[in-house]
Amino acid sequence: MMQPPCPSLSQCLYPACGCGYNEEYTKLNRKMFIMSKAIPEPVTKLIEAFSRLPGIGPKSASRLTYFLLRAPDQVSQALSDALRDLKTQTQFCSVCYNITVDNPCPICGDSKRNQRVIAVVEEPLDVLAIERTASFDGVYHVLHGVISPVNGIGPDDLRIKELKTRVERGNVLEIIIATNPGLEGDATAMFIQRELTPKGVKVTRLARGLPMGGDLEYVDSVTLTRALQGRNEL
Ligand SMILES: [Zn+2]
Repeated sequence: MMQPPCPSLSQCLYPACGCGYNEEYTKLNRKMFIMSKAIPEPVTKLIEAFSRLPGIGPKSASRLTYFLLRAPDQVSQALSDALRDLKTQTQFCSVCYNITVDNPCPICGDSKRNQRVIAVVEEPLDVLAIERTASFDGVYHVLHGVISPVNGIGPDDLRIKELKTRVERGNVLEIIIATNPGLEGDATAMFIQRELTPKGVKVTRLARGLPMGGDLEYVDSVTLTRALQGRNEL
C-alpha cells in the first residue's frame, strides 16, 4: 500500500528519509522521463521555445506546436520567415529608440508632428497605446524599461542619456513622462524630472486616473486621452 506523503516534505528530497514518499517521487520522475522519450526532439524544442514566451504555458505551447505540425507547410513557413525578418529587418530609431524598419522612424520623420513635445514611454507598445488615442501630435522617446533596483536595472541601462542629449540639443518645449503608474514608473519619472528640470525644459507627468500597477498598453483610449489632457507639471 502506498504510504501518505511525509509531512516534512523537505526531508523527502534526501534518500535518508525512509518515509516511502521519496520512492514515489523517483517513480514519477521515471514516468516523466519515459514520456519525454515518446516525443521527438524537434517537437520538444518548439514546445520549450513557445513556453518561454510571456503568457504561454506548457499546455498552450503544446497546442501551438501540434497545430503547426498538422497545418499546411505555408503556415509554418510564414511563421519562420516572420521570425527571421523580425530581427534582420528592424532596428532602433536613432532619435526616439522605437523599433523601426526605416531610420529615423515614420513618427520622427513626420514634419506635421510637433517635434518640440516629447512623450517618454517605457516600451514600444506604449507608443502604440498613445497613438491609438489620436490625441497626441508630438513625438516619443522609448526608454526600454524602468529603473528597478530589485532587478538590477539602473538609469544607465535605459535610454535616459539619449533623452538628455535630445534636450541639450535645444528646441524642446515639453517632456511628458508617460511611464506606467506604480513604484518603478514613478521613481523613473522622478529621476528624469530631476535630470531635465535644470536644463530649463517643462517636465510634465500623465495625470492620475490610470490603474496602479497597470500597463499602459492595456489601458483603453478614453482613459488614456483624459490622462493626457489632465497631465500636471512636476
Ligand atoms: Zn523615431
